[in-house]
Amino acid sequence: MDKGLQRKLKACSDLPSLPAAAARVIELAENPAASMADISQAVSLDPALATKLMRIANSPLYARSRQIGNLDMAVMMLGLNATIMLALSFSLSASMRRSREGGMDYSLFWRRSLLAATAARVIAGKRPDVPVEDAFLASMLRDIGLVALDKVQPGAAAAQQDGHENGQLEIGVWLLDQWHFPLHLLNAIQDSGHCDDLGRSAAEDDLARCVALSRLIADFFMAHDMGEHLGKVRAFATRHWSLDNVWVGEVLGAVAKEVPQIEELFELDLIDVQSLDGLMTQAKELMMVRSLHTAQVLESNREESRKMARKAQLLEEKANRDHLTGLWNRAYLDTSIKTLFEQSETDRQPMSVIFLDLDHFKQINDRHGHQTGDEALEHVAQILLDNTRSYDVVSRYGGEEFVIIMPGMDCDLATRVANRLVSSLRKSPLATDSGEKVTITASAGVATHNDKHDFDNPEGLMRAADQVMYVAKTSGRNRFVVYSKCI
Ligand code: GH3
Ligand code: MG
Ligand code: MG
Repeated sequence: MDKGLQRKLKACSDLPSLPAAAARVIELAENPAASMADISQAVSLDPALATKLMRIANSPLYARSRQIGNLDMAVMMLGLNATIMLALSFSLSASMRRSREGGMDYSLFWRRSLLAATAARVIAGKRPDVPVEDAFLASMLRDIGLVALDKVQPGAAAAQQDGHENGQLEIGVWLLDQWHFPLHLLNAIQDSGHCDDLGRSAAEDDLARCVALSRLIADFFMAHDMGEHLGKVRAFATRHWSLDNVWVGEVLGAVAKEVPQIEELFELDLIDVQSLDGLMTQAKELMMVRSLHTAQVLESNREESRKMARKAQLLEEKANRDHLTGLWNRAYLDTSIKTLFEQSETDRQPMSVIFLDLDHFKQINDRHGHQTGDEALEHVAQILLDNTRSYDVVSRYGGEEFVIIMPGMDCDLATRVANRLVSSLRKSPLATDSGEKVTITASAGVATHNDKHDFDNPEGLMRAADQVMYVAKTSGRNRFVVYSKCI
């Protein structure tokens, strides 16, 4: 960077600064000991930010089957990286919006940045190895140097905003470095200015390419001479990734679809709806000239596969449920424990498992009949649901055995849940039609996978919970035992 400019920037007292909540989030991101709870706590200091995260966790961008009801849940569902990236993008875009006389047009700046970020998100979704939130944030902040430049040389920033120079990249990287931004984002922003020099295959360079291409797509959406910009987008996709027109058409279509959601979340109009429609039609036409046939075949295949996917989703939901109790079944448990175990490793978060077996259940069948036995199982299922969180996986493992997976839950908390379950069962007898009260008790085992990495795999974790459940059985039933390594 030019020495004079650097001196000016350093001396400038009103350089854009990082909002407090965002600064705290970055600090936590650098700290390996930080937990989800810490991040959630930092975010909750900024109520507007917290609300945004809740909204995004419940938005179609992160479609989940269940309603996310509180901030802890939102943070857990989004994961550490996504929360950090989203928190930063929300607080930064909200904090710098006002334009000055003769300076840069901030509304234009954010429109372009958010359009690019939306495009980067879509492209990253199609590239393995590029986390979508990294792409979103890196792309959104690629031109942040203009905001700094605007403070010291407003005219220069305004002029550069219209051009396609890359002078702002260096200033942006300098500013983000002052804010202690993660290094890989700085590298990606820097490298996005010279994609031709990058290695063809390195995964980290893919993030830089994502950022560069996303800018071209933003220009396409904002420009009047879209033909020229479309040409650049296509050329980039072919040169760097050997991808064809159909791919470009899909990306543009997906960006157009996501724009309204991003607009709502960031409270900014990016493109007016009518011109969006027009743009898409034109883009499609342009794409189709060359690959009309391929596109038609693709489209009909896609419609077919969408139908199949909807059917499969319904069937899958049914196939994952236990018929009698409505709890998740064994098959679903087996897959979800794998996913949650992996997530717990990546996010460095604990997870706990409770294995629960009803006591002398055969006697309940023998004394009261099989029908009452079935009612008892439904009754137990309800008590388990009432005493767990909505995102815990409560499943019927088989017969009268239940397994509960509790993501993010440490040993102390899991012990409390086990205690609550065993005592609630004991205290809530089943009232039969004949007015009889049938007391049901259970023996439970608790095991926790925590940052000491006690278990190599989910099977080991399940086995441990099962083993201590048997200890609870043999030591008198109607109680729980905690796997010793977890205490
Ligand atoms: P304990 O676990 O305390 O050692 O004794 P238990 O009597 O519960 O032991 P066991 O596991 O041998 O028996 C389980 C019983 O649960 C046997 C079976 O009749 C009953 N059972 C399993 N599935 C169902 C079901 O779907 N409905 C009914 N009514 N009973 C079931
Ligand atoms: Mg059993
Ligand atoms: Mg039993």
